[in-house]
Amino acid sequence: MVNSMISLNTLKKKLVLIGLCLGPFTTVCAQDNPLGQPLLDSAGNLLEDAFIHIPLRQEDQAYADIDGAWMKDVLMELDQISLDDKNSGQLFWGRNLGTEAHAISQNWAEANFRRYGLQNIQRKTFDLNPVWVVDSWSISFNNGNEIFQLESARPPEKTVSTPEAGLEYELIWLGTGTDADYLGRDVSNKAVLIQDIPRPGTLRHSIRTEDSVARAYAHGAAAVGIVYGISDNFAVWQRTTGPGFNLGFEDGVKLRDRLGAGEKLTVSLNYQTHTVPDQTGDSVLGTLPGTSDENIIILSHIDGYFQSASDNASGMAVMMGLIKHFSAIPQSQRRRNLIFMSSLGHHSGPGARWLHDEKESAMADTAMVINLEHVALVRTKYWGPTLRKMNTVSPMRWWVWGSEDMLNVVLDSFQRFNVGVTANMESGASGEMGSLARDIPTLQVITSPEIKHTEQDTPEWVPAVGLEQIGRAYAKIIDGVNKLDRNNLLPAL
Ligand SMILES: [Zn+2]
Repeated sequence: MVNSMISLNTLKKKLVLIGLCLGPFTTVCAQDNPLGQPLLDSAGNLLEDAFIHIPLRQEDQAYADIDGAWMKDVLMELDQISLDDKNSGQLFWGRNLGTEAHAISQNWAEANFRRYGLQNIQRKTFDLNPVWVVDSWSISFNNGNEIFQLESARPPEKTVSTPEAGLEYELIWLGTGTDADYLGRDVSNKAVLIQDIPRPGTLRHSIRTEDSVARAYAHGAAAVGIVYGISDNFAVWQRTTGPGFNLGFEDGVKLRDRLGAGEKLTVSLNYQTHTVPDQTGDSVLGTLPGTSDENIIILSHIDGYFQSASDNASGMAVMMGLIKHFSAIPQSQRRRNLIFMSSLGHHSGPGARWLHDEKESAMADTAMVINLEHVALVRTKYWGPTLRKMNTVSPMRWWVWGSEDMLNVVLDSFQRFNVGVTANMESGASGEMGSLARDIPTLQVITSPEIKHTEQDTPEWVPAVGLEQIGRAYAKIIDGVNKLDRNNLLPAL
């Protein structure tokens, strides 16, 4: 009876699939495999269970409480703060410095610090650059007969307002915007569309390394449209120094192909913005006391564009995982004080630079700094114009500044917990750690994927297993480093 029920259900499924596959335009049916998509949930996202999960070794059972699912829930709390900001009507939304969402995020961090019994909880307040606010924006295109919008179109971050009536320019395609692309072209008073190739994210991408935006204005272009990426349709607010706009790849290709077919297109830009001066922002610090006078500082930036799941709710989630883990260990068994810092962030603020500027006091008695920044991401692979997720965690760029003994502790821990890294170590640290990388022993892993700073930096790109493996690795590194005296952590200079 049970068997016949199953076969009836299977038959029904097959009939549904056959029904879907008999459309008049279907030459190859993508759904003719009755297995469906076993690694995806109903929304098309990779199942957490589908990720390769390295079993915890017997001797590492002390780290079992650093749990990926728990940290993913923490990440979702920060995600919700961003979504609330969006739903409040904020156009340039997220957990951006100088906004209420940022203040709410820091209150959230402080509440967590209190919940786990951190001591000496304090705020360090910084004056901010004028905070940029978008009051309204519209970007549309016109071929003479039809006005249309594109889903991924966004204004440039930090842009000044257009005239109230807006701006309208003829649109031309200009390749990657190198000097070679301008030969024989007159771009004056036109909007140029430039392809921006990520290598891999919005860091070190082609418009920056080729200086394409500045070159466009220098050639007389009136506006610059940046077509971001080589896949998908990521919405990003990259900066220009004059009038401009951003498009995802798919939308950029639509315009390119219409221009290529001989259509005459114009772009209309209208955005109204203002800045708010004299704002301040806070970093929040708290200490889990050990049994010595020495400290380990663990920092993570809390600000972020849009949902900013990888950049940097992932770092904050691992910070909370470490706080929970170490606060459950009796103080008598903890050697160095662990100072946790929810940094206000560096996207449009001072970040952790003050640690460097005030290092004699701020990092006195500090043995090591760990920066938790973009610490977990799904591994991806390009396949045609699609960035496909895989069921493994992305390897990281990495930086260690310290002794051989410290390096051995770090690499052993990376091996144990499956933290893959690039073959070559970075020549310096980036992000929050940049300015203090060589001040005292420091450590970070970081990744800067294509979705970084886009509206697609959403939780499904951050696997729970990725949070878990880096959280456990850092906990074991802290324990390993705590077996070494401070002198034995210093680099051989
Ligand atoms: Zn970051």
